[in-house]
Amino acid sequence: MKIFFRLSYVTIFASLLLLASCTNDDALVTDKQAVTKNANNSKTARSATVSNRIKKVLIIGIDGCRGDALLVANTPNVHALLLNAVYSFDALTESPTWSGNGWSTMLSGVTHLKHGVTDNSFSNPNFGTYPSFLKRLETYNSALKTMSIVHWLPINTYIVDGIDVEKTLATDLEVKNEVITALSSDNPDALFMHFDDVDHAGHSYGFSMNVPQYKSALETTDGYIGEILTALKNRPNYADEDWLVIIAPDHGGIVTGSTGSHGGSSYQERNIFTIFHNKNFTSNKIEKPVDTTTPITGKFANFNANSVYASTNNSLYNFGTSSFTVECRVKTSTYSSDPSLVSNKNWASGKNRGFVISANTGGKWKVNIGDTQNRVDISGGTITDSKWHHLSLVVDRSSKLVKTYQDGAFVGQAAIVDSFGSLTSGLPLAIGQDGTLTYPANVNGNIAEVRVWNKALPEASIRNYTCSSITPSNPDYSNLIGYWKGDNGSGNSFIDSSSKQVNITFLTTPTWTTSSTTLKCGTTTGVVPKMVDIAYSSLQWLNVPINSGWLLDGRSWLPAVN
Ligand SMILES: [Zn+2]
Repeated sequence: MKIFFRLSYVTIFASLLLLASCTNDDALVTDKQAVTKNANNSKTARSATVSNRIKKVLIIGIDGCRGDALLVANTPNVHALLLNAVYSFDALTESPTWSGNGWSTMLSGVTHLKHGVTDNSFSNPNFGTYPSFLKRLETYNSALKTMSIVHWLPINTYIVDGIDVEKTLATDLEVKNEVITALSSDNPDALFMHFDDVDHAGHSYGFSMNVPQYKSALETTDGYIGEILTALKNRPNYADEDWLVIIAPDHGGIVTGSTGSHGGSSYQERNIFTIFHNKNFTSNKIEKPVDTTTPITGKFANFNANSVYASTNNSLYNFGTSSFTVECRVKTSTYSSDPSLVSNKNWASGKNRGFVISANTGGKWKVNIGDTQNRVDISGGTITDSKWHHLSLVVDRSSKLVKTYQDGAFVGQAAIVDSFGSLTSGLPLAIGQDGTLTYPANVNGNIAEVRVWNKALPEASIRNYTCSSITPSNPDYSNLIGYWKGDNGSGNSFIDSSSKQVNITFLTTPTWTTSSTTLKCGTTTGVVPKMVDIAYSSLQWLNVPINSGWLLDGRSWLPAVN
């Protein structure tokens, strides 16, 4: 009964669309493109319905697919789509870069701050409030046929719910065949599909264009995509349909030794590609702004032993439950374990009260805050390349968020629970140590430009001053409560250049080394597609009115006129 009802409803719906197309001819003639097309008599009938063809969406998700590898591999089918696509190989997803987070974000159109999935445990999802866009389609018009055909079961178990067809297959080959069957003998309006073999190859051999097994998996997937696109074009009603084909992965990945991984916050893990293809689109490649660098020259204190650190007990740095920002620069090539760079806590446990910006295992960095009951952790990218890196920790108690930036660019964010307590630890603020001043690990290298602010700095304020020093003309200067530049070249004092003048003394006089290496200056990431944009763009393509109450985080990248 349900199927019969659906079919008849679809038929009525299609008839209404055809009726609408007849009454809209006048409107179309005012469109410059339509006039041009109408000049060719043989195409008049078809062009009159260009805007009224039945809109449909196919999303091809490729788990763990790096865009740079996809581009250099032998992938003719994906390459052909770029000729009629709005696309970017500089797009971004948010960390943690687990599949649970990635697919949840793609399908719901909101970040993990709302859907609540940060890893693959799906321990506390919030899809009741933030459902998949497929479910929103069903709510909008239950006659629309919505399908999810995937290799990775949790997508259908947790994320997708309340849609017409959910199928989980054991192999990519079966997924491909099932999608071809759906396109050939069913009538999907929105079809999400998921391949997993590329991710498997990445884990086994490394996520890199230089890994033959990874490239080979991409090429097999590209062949499957070719078969699917052929099935799509062979649909009996293809001439009356207008398909948006979206291709994107859930995350990137890296090479770790002889295998590969993802889950962290490095750019290689957060970088994704997004392809929005329609046969009538003009090719439009969206690129990130070019990175600029600046040389940082000076004579900096060398942190290379436990006894080289500076600390102060000044109560200015007891943040309690207030907002604050801490920044520092670090230049290092090596260290062991996870030494603190700037901290006021006992870093023996992440739950201990206070904050830390620390180096982390694997040559990366991280931030942590804890209140004895709760903790928040965000990992960062690589810092062990002997170049300066500018690291920023923002604790915003009014919006209940921790945010991090590396070299002026957004890296990650995490929610602070309502009950999160004070960050005043009773321990000193320390540079090159944790609050206990006895943490057993230390960074080999330079720490400089330590900035402490008694407010949560917005992204632009951090980016604009990544490569320059802070002067009284800085718009937030009155909130700068500690500023140890650490470039004075000699002595045993970290001189405070803020108006508070809290000069602090090294326990042991450090050696000062001349350094002249580059620092990457921040560029905005607001100009490239994000994972959250895929659901938004899909809903817009299908002419679904987007309710502001849905609190979607994305935007549309589709051309204004189709
Ligand atoms: Zn994976």
